[in-house]
Amino acid sequence: MTALAQQALPESPLENILRDRIAREGPIGIADYMSLCLGHPQHGYYMTRDPFGARGDFTTAPEVSQMFGEMIGAYVAAQWQLMGAPQPFHLIECGPGRGTLMADMLRVFARLPDLMKALRIHLVEMSPVLRDVQQKNLEAYADRIEWHEDINNVPAGAFALVANEFLDALPVRQFQFHQREWRERCIGLEKGTLGYTLGGRVALNISANEGDIFETSPVREKFIRNIAARLKCSPGFALLIDYGHDRSGLGDTLQAVHRHHYANPLERPGEADLTSHVDFAALKKMTEEIGCEVGGPIPQGKFLENCGISARAAILQQKNPQAGAEAALRRLTAADEMGELFKVMILSSFGKPVFIS
Ligand code: SAH
Repeated sequence: MTALAQQALPESPLENILRDRIAREGPIGIADYMSLCLGHPQHGYYMTRDPFGARGDFTTAPEVSQMFGEMIGAYVAAQWQLMGAPQPFHLIECGPGRGTLMADMLRVFARLPDLMKALRIHLVEMSPVLRDVQQKNLEAYADRIEWHEDINNVPAGAFALVANEFLDALPVRQFQFHQREWRERCIGLEKGTLGYTLGGRVALNISANEGDIFETSPVREKFIRNIAARLKCSPGFALLIDYGHDRSGLGDTLQAVHRHHYANPLERPGEADLTSHVDFAALKKMTEEIGCEVGGPIPQGKFLENCGISARAAILQQKNPQAGAEAALRRLTAADEMGELFKVMILSSFGKPVFIS
């Protein structure tokens, strides 16, 4: 590597840690790699920074416009009423980022004093940096917010759970079809550099061609099983929004994003966001087998339209034509923007969820 290239791509501290570990213990699976890159206590991507917005690495729906959180808030409020207005009512958000979605939902609830009185807020967040940002942005509600490491620490009782772009950050395992066998796809060292390699054989009954990749996410599945278990003893629903597919298939969807551009997932570990597409079909099948009602997945654009986002955009646009409500509406709902790739799936304890067809 030339001096210039070294300057352009300095090694990340996590890269050295990974190299040492692989040299000592052998290749690591993609899931371990992903969870270290995102969650390593000192050098993990989310543990060290606020990655959102124009100056960060990527922009999520709540950061595009207040309308996103307002629609989700209106949906949660309507469902709470359908549930018989339970008190207390636990509102759980997993992976709240900057707390923007929660702040926008709470502004909607401010018009419903009974809901506000019932509300207990639970934020499931692993990043100390983002917890600080959430604390600042939600200061006005400090007396009713609790932070948790894990969803299982949230007390039982009537609840709504919301998670936007949380599932995509949970680690996936990958398997590759090679010489008529499925093998775990791993990361090893090639002349001192991180590179893909194959690990042990796995028994998978899936037909494929040489080189095909199959992904599965035991951590995501465990998360969904935890929600399903909660739904069995507490009335509630879980609204999951993420990018992914509504039909299971083969393919490598692991992606890294750095400063709003795709990057090589093996370059600068810990300094780029690392995600994969959510296999909603697999999660839906699992949830139905457990016995929960599932609505969707449907495209995000359709869900937001069902919630009335166009009417809200028209009001905002009229109030302040410079604020860009129409452009934001397009970004959130158009098929060639976030409207199709992002999907909404709702799990519920009390019959088919509304607005999701
Ligand atoms: N929902 C926000 C942020 C999405 S980014 C938005 O739409 O803007 C993913 C979020 O999930 C971050 O807050 C990140 O710190 C958190 N996160 C990722 N993996 C996590 C885990 N295993 N446990 C708890 N939080 C996690």
